[in-house]
Amino acid sequence: MKKSLKLTLCALGFAIACLCAGLLLQTDTFSSKRPKYVFYFIGDGMSFNHILGTEHYNTAKAGASKTLRLNFTQFDTRNFVTNYSTSNLVTDSAAAGTALASGVKTANACIGVDPEGNKLRTIADVASELGYKVGLVTNVGINHATPSCFYGHTSDRFGFPKLVDDYIASDVAFVAGSTIMDMKSGPQDPKYKPTTTAELADRIRKAGIELSLDVDAAAKVSGKRVALVAHDKENKHVPYVIDRKGDEKHTLVNHTKAAIEYLSRESKDGFFLMVEEGKLDYSAHEQDAVTTFHEVNELAAVVELALEFAKQHPDETLIVVTADHETGGMVLGWDHYEIRMNVLTAQKCSAGQLTKIFQRMREEGVRDWAPYKKVLSDNFGLWSTVPVTKEEEQLLLHDFHNIFLKYGPMVDGLYNKNEFVIHHALRILNKHASLDWTSLYHTGTYIPIYVQGVGEKAFLECRDQTEIPKTIATLMGSQL
Ligand SMILES: [Zn+2]
Repeated sequence: MKKSLKLTLCALGFAIACLCAGLLLQTDTFSSKRPKYVFYFIGDGMSFNHILGTEHYNTAKAGASKTLRLNFTQFDTRNFVTNYSTSNLVTDSAAAGTALASGVKTANACIGVDPEGNKLRTIADVASELGYKVGLVTNVGINHATPSCFYGHTSDRFGFPKLVDDYIASDVAFVAGSTIMDMKSGPQDPKYKPTTTAELADRIRKAGIELSLDVDAAAKVSGKRVALVAHDKENKHVPYVIDRKGDEKHTLVNHTKAAIEYLSRESKDGFFLMVEEGKLDYSAHEQDAVTTFHEVNELAAVVELALEFAKQHPDETLIVVTADHETGGMVLGWDHYEIRMNVLTAQKCSAGQLTKIFQRMREEGVRDWAPYKKVLSDNFGLWSTVPVTKEEEQLLLHDFHNIFLKYGPMVDGLYNKNEFVIHHALRILNKHASLDWTSLYHTGTYIPIYVQGVGEKAFLECRDQTEIPKTIATLMGSQL
């Protein structure tokens, strides 16, 4: 045989071998089965330390000797990804949400558009094209950054009326959240006319969508699109989990149950359901660890609903749990190789709730430190179970007399403002637990992915969050 022919045959053999290996790898990574039911969970602002901190907190609270693991951290497929935006190494929820929904990096503040403002196709569009019904659930506004990245297109994440118009024009079958955000909930942009939540609710009703305030009734609506909200007259959010009285119907769990009931009944071709735990980001912006841990537990509670659903549909369900970015730069352990989570079990309500109690007392004319000190003791465990040093009390007294009683400035936690005296009381409590925060905003650290179900191993290939929706699209049998 001529040398050149031999070489050609060798090269051909090698090419065939490569092709076979490639095909084998592909069939291994992307199984032939396609997920009929896709659950996409996003913990807004949740990274490794919020999750691990929650597990340590739950363990301390239960007095357990072994770490109590959250359901999703026990998934077999786990990975971590980068999340920077095109405008900065630290992303905001709009650019990160766009990456998670469209698989494209964009600039901060952009929703469903690239940095030049060009409209992007989303995983929700892909799902609708394939016949899946789409549901979006959040415990913040239905037109807040994360949910709106699945239907909206604007370079201004605070263009809330425009995002409502985009939602109306979309194929989203079921949406649920705390409210419809109005023009007062973001920076006042002169481009938009002042618009209220009530006006936006009317706009949704006039489009023929069933706007419901009733969780049970919303789940039973047939043949119509549904928007379920806790408030349709004012831009008001549902309370933090830690502040619940116990009789609330509008919770992330109940809204997700309603979405699953509606989508299972209304679609024979499967569904795609995104659920955002959005209040987790709010509490992390406030550097409120215990409140954040309760929100992470809420995320685990909605993941549990998906796990129960998957038991009924074992070979047809895909569950992806991830985040958009990290909020607050949470540090587990700043003090001599120690974490003392049991210290945090004394906290009974959020910093925001305590700010409201303090302000009410001030309105009632209470000006002595002692009754305020008792409130801090009863709700944060300071002095009663957590020893407070003289210097620490001096700081609180300074805040109390020089700022709080004089109606001075407050700590801006982006979505909520807290009194300095409360913020510092919380810092003292966290410090005694050896837990700290390094940012009032987002950080650029890695974010986790946990996956269970059809095609889960494909997510091991993801290196950036843009690859997550692309992988879901491929598994569903399309491209993004
Ligand atoms: Zn976010």
